Amino acid sequence: MLDTTTIRRIAHHDTGGLPVVSLYLAVPADPAEHNAVPTRINSLLDEVRPLVDDEELDRPARMSLRADLEWLSSLGRDGLRPGGLAVFACSGADLREVIELPVAVRDRIVVDSTPWLRPLFAIADDIHRYGVIVLDGSSAQLYEMVGDELTAASAVRHERLRAPRYGGWYGLDEHGVRNRAEGLRLRHYRAVADAADEMVRLDGVDHLIVGGMDQHVNAFVDQLPHALRERLAGTFTIDLHTATPARIADAAREVIARHEAELDRRLATEILDAVGGSDRAVAGLDEVLWAASVGAVDHLVVVENVTVPGVRCPGCGWLGTRGATCPVCGGETVEVPDVIDEAVAAVFDAGGLVDHLAPGDSPLDEHLVAARLRFPLPPVPETAAA
Ligand SMILES: [Zn+2]
Repeated sequence: MLDTTTIRRIAHHDTGGLPVVSLYLAVPADPAEHNAVPTRINSLLDEVRPLVDDEELDRPARMSLRADLEWLSSLGRDGLRPGGLAVFACSGADLREVIELPVAVRDRIVVDSTPWLRPLFAIADDIHRYGVIVLDGSSAQLYEMVGDELTAASAVRHERLRAPRYGGWYGLDEHGVRNRAEGLRLRHYRAVADAADEMVRLDGVDHLIVGGMDQHVNAFVDQLPHALRERLAGTFTIDLHTATPARIADAAREVIARHEAELDRRLATEILDAVGGSDRAVAGLDEVLWAASVGAVDHLVVVENVTVPGVRCPGCGWLGTRGATCPVCGGETVEVPDVIDEAVAAVFDAGGLVDHLAPGDSPLDEHLVAARLRFPLPPVPETAAA
C-alpha cells in the first residue's frame, strides 16, 4: 500500500552509489489487456538492457543491474492487481520493493543513482482516505477506503461501539420505553460520531461516507457535529445485516466517484475562474504546454482520454502542438503521439499534481487542459512554421 512512510523508506535506502531501477506500470482490469502486461514489462526492460554491458559502469553496478532486470522480468508472471505498480530494485544493495498503486500510472522505467519517486509523491498527495460508516439504530461497522481498497477500521473503535449500553430499564411505562429507546439510539449515534471523529484525527481520514437504511443515515447525519458534517462525501442505502464488505465497497466506490468528480469540477472551475484575472492560471493547450515546458505547473487538470499529437524537443524538453524547430533552443523536434501525456509526465517530473476529469459536463471540456501555476509565465515563444 502506498503511504509516505513507504516512500521515505525507499528514498532513504542506502544504495552505496549502485544504480537503482524504478519501474512504473499501469495494470489494466480488462483480462485481455492484462495478458499483455509481461510483454509491456519486457519492452520497458529492453529500454535499459544496454546498460548491463555498458563499459562506463563498474562491474558491481553491472552485476546489480543484471540481477535487477532478471528479477523484474519475472514480475508479470503472477497475477497483478488492477491499478498501477511502482517497483524499485537495486539488487546489490538489497532493495526490492513492489508497491501496488490505487490508480493507473504511465509505463516508465528509469535507471539512476537514486530511486525516481516523484510520481509516487504526486499520487500519494492526491489520494483521499475515506472513512466508511455503515450503521443502524444500535450497531455500526467502520471501514477505511483508500483508493480502491476497503479495510476494517481499528478494532479499538469497534470494541467501543460494541460495549453494551442496555440494562435496568424494565417495567417502565410505554412512553418512557419509547423515550429510552430514542435516548439509546442517540447515544449510539454519538458514540459512532466519536469513532468517526477519531478516524479523522488519528487515522488521517479526509472524508466520511455513511451507509445504512435511510432513517438511520438521516438521523445520524443530522446529529453530526458541523466539523464532521463538512467532511461528508455522501451516503448510500444498505441494510447493515445483509451487507457484505464487497457490497459496501461497491456502494462506497460509487459515492467516491461522484464526490471526486464534484471535487474535480470545483478545482477546474477555480482554476478557470483565475485565468485572466491572475497570472497564476492558464487554460488551453498552447499556454499549458508552455507552462509545462518551463516547469511552472503546480496543478494540472486535463480532460480524460483526450489525445492530441504534438512535438517535443529532446534537447530542452519544450512541448508544442507543432513546429519542426524548437523555438527555445533551436533544436530539431520529434513528433509525439500525445502531447498531453508528455505534459502530464513533465508535470509529475517537476513534482506537480495532475487531475484527470471525465469528459462531458465539465467546465474544462472546451479548453481540454488548464493549470494553476507556481510562477507567472514568460511570454509564449513564437513557433516556427512546421
Ligand atoms: Zn529545445
